[in-house]
Amino acid sequence: MASRPEVAAVAATAEGGTAISLRGLAKRYGRTQALDDVSLEIEPGQFVTLLGPSGSGKTTLLQAIAGFVDPDAGSVLAGGMDITTLPAHRREIGLVFQHYALFPHLTVEQNIAYSLRVRGTAKQHRHELVQRFLDMVEMSDLGSRMPDELSGGQRQRVALARALVFEPKVVLLDEALSALDRKLRQSLQFTIKRIQRDIGATFIHVTHDQDEALAMSDVIVLMRAGSIEQVGTPADLYDHPVSPFAAAFMGEANLVEVTRVEGDALEHPGSRQRFGASHRLVPVPDVGAFEPLLCVRPEAIRLTADGGRDCLTGVLTAGVFMGDHWRYNVDIGTQSLVIKDFSSRTAQVEVGQQVQLELPRYDVPLFVPADPNRARVGVST
Ligand code: ADP
Repeated sequence: MASRPEVAAVAATAEGGTAISLRGLAKRYGRTQALDDVSLEIEPGQFVTLLGPSGSGKTTLLQAIAGFVDPDAGSVLAGGMDITTLPAHRREIGLVFQHYALFPHLTVEQNIAYSLRVRGTAKQHRHELVQRFLDMVEMSDLGSRMPDELSGGQRQRVALARALVFEPKVVLLDEALSALDRKLRQSLQFTIKRIQRDIGATFIHVTHDQDEALAMSDVIVLMRAGSIEQVGTPADLYDHPVSPFAAAFMGEANLVEVTRVEGDALEHPGSRQRFGASHRLVPVPDVGAFEPLLCVRPEAIRLTADGGRDCLTGVLTAGVFMGDHWRYNVDIGTQSLVIKDFSSRTAQVEVGQQVQLELPRYDVPLFVPADPNRARVGVST
């Protein structure tokens, strides 16, 4: 039997999962501030996704939690215990990476059993666990295959089972599904969510794919240039973005320039059109001056041939059938807006035609600079 390595027991605060606290984490590489004072509380058993553009610090943050990156400042706590200086192999965290190589000379079963062998799990129990996790990732029939006899999706299922079989209370996934095609990705997303619910562990997942984040997460952490831009449920991020960046990153957003605001009456500067939209002001700090921007989702705009006087007027420049909706582009002067119409199977308007755009009657975010003195154009309400 393999000798049993010293294993750090990360204190669990709830059945199945461990709370993770990040406090003021910073990491610099040369002139790049990869992490800039990142603080975050993750509750036990949550599925959390770190989302953001390439280079925003997602992987660095995940690696600091895993113990592969040594932060310049700040701390990582698991279940209330400070693990900032604890070596990676003692953190008892399950890891699944995009290209997490399986041992090529071991069968699927042996690959999954490996982490149990090094922990000295008794043979009978080891066998039971391997079968249970093979079953969980729907690979029961393929236990005796070698890795090179598996498809990419099957290999990732084995990697997942291997990361979970020692029943860690925290599981980290780094772009684990990115190398797979869309159908496989969706099926594995479903599998991973189901397993996460079953075992109740805390999952932290890095992706740049917003659909994946929406489909899987209890909480999304949107990152930008080493900092956290916004934390919330998928619905929070979609309906209540805190900045134009958050609005544009999470789903599609029309950011309509607005110069004057009087009640619900707005004016579009390029075309001098007056139009109406029920909105709420969202002050955006730390960005300096910018034109106020109304954030309207494409599916929230109604396109008509003869709207009322509160509508924006534009010219249809494109209309494409997308299967479940029509996607239109409308030029309103200095800007082009995207509209998605799920209500009709046939195009309502023709390219080149003048159209009216009816904006939503509910609270649409209107981003304004937090410091009005720095704005180029004032907003009076
Ligand atoms: P993401 O995962 O969001 O793409 P990363 O955390 O990988 O972002 O990187 C954040 C920033 O830190 C990037 O500018 C990246 O180039 C830089 N960076 C990350 N790791 C290193 C490293 N080992 N050496 C130098 N720069 C790095």
